[in-house]
Amino acid sequence: MPSGVGYIFVCRLGQIMENLTLRISGVTNDSIVDGPGFRYVIFAQGCEMHCEGCHNPQTWDKNGGYDITFAEIMKSVTANPLLDGVTLSGGEPFLQAEKFAALCREIKASTTLNIISYSGYTFEHLAANKAYRELLETIDCLIDGEFMIEEKSYDLNFMGSKNQRFIDVPKSLAAGKAVIKIFG
Ligand code: SF4
Repeated sequence: MPSGVGYIFVCRLGQIMENLTLRISGVTNDSIVDGPGFRYVIFAQGCEMHCEGCHNPQTWDKNGGYDITFAEIMKSVTANPLLDGVTLSGGEPFLQAEKFAALCREIKASTTLNIISYSGYTFEHLAANKAYRELLETIDCLIDGEFMIEEKSYDLNFMGSKNQRFIDVPKSLAAGKAVIKIFG
C-alpha cells in the first residue's frame, strides 16, 4: 500500500479500527538486537512481572507511556524497505493481546515481514489462554519467559537469561508443545 494512504482496519466484530490505539513506551525503526535482521520494534507499555534487573522498568506502569494509532504504525512499517520484520517488546505485549493481534494480522496482510514477540509469560501459559492464543496465532516466533537475573547471560541470541526460549510459534501450536526455532 502506498505511503500516505489511510488504513482502514476492520476487527472480528466488524468495527473500523484505523483510529484504535496501542499503549506503548516507544518504537524503534531500525533495531538489530531484537531479533534477526533489521527490525521495527514496538515497546508495549505495562508489565506485571517486575523482574529484578529488567532493562525497561519505565514500561511497567500501564498508565505510563503514550497512545499510538494503528495507522501511524503501519505508515512507519510500510515506509521502510530495509525492514526484515517487526518485534513486539515491552513491557508485556500480551496484556494488549487483542489489539496486537489485529495489528499483526494487518502487517501480515500488507507486507512480507516476519513478526517476533517477547513475553514474560511462558508459551504454555499463553497457549492455554484464549485471548493470548489469538495473538500467538498471528506471530512467527516467541521469546518467552521472565528475565531471571541469576540466569543472565551475554551469550544468548536476542535473549537475556538462560530460562528464556526462542520458539517457532506455528510449529509449536501445531505440535501442542514448545518447538525451539532452529536458525541456519
Ligand atoms: S517481563 Fe520483560 S518488561 Fe516485564 S519486568 Fe520482566 S524483563 Fe521487564
